[in-house]
Amino acid sequence: MAHTFRDPDGDLSHTPRRRPGRRHERNDFTCVHCRAPVSGTSFGTKHRNHCPRCLWSRHVDEHPGDRAAVCRSPMEPVAVAARDDGEWAIVHRCTACAKINLNRVAGDDDELALLALALRPLALPAFPLLDVRRRE
Ligand SMILES: [Zn+2]
Ligand SMILES: [Zn+2]
Repeated sequence: MAHTFRDPDGDLSHTPRRRPGRRHERNDFTCVHCRAPVSGTSFGTKHRNHCPRCLWSRHVDEHPGDRAAVCRSPMEPVAVAARDDGEWAIVHRCTACAKINLNRVAGDDDELALLALALRPLALPAFPLLDVRRRE
């Protein structure tokens, strides 16, 4: 009779369900996209919620850090947003329910991945760049 199971975060647990947000939980996780092991602690963010290598996240929060979402599907990084103070945030869109979340960039996020994300609209222009003319 199986009385333990391995939960998606990798720790053995005897309880079939975890009560969200009611107890201290380990924040380490495995990336849903590139499978890299991700430490839950980093400088620059209290609740790391995305992979520093590929920037994918997971739909676990309704509001930042609350872990209240039941969706738990992968969230794709779709854009970079710059705040007034110059800090960057990553726009994540859930691949299942299409919810949009804005997440602070962490101190050890991969700079090339961030740049590639920021430059994506320029690399894939929605119109031919040579046809852009200044309107007289
Ligand atoms: Zn990843
Ligand atoms: Zn979702």
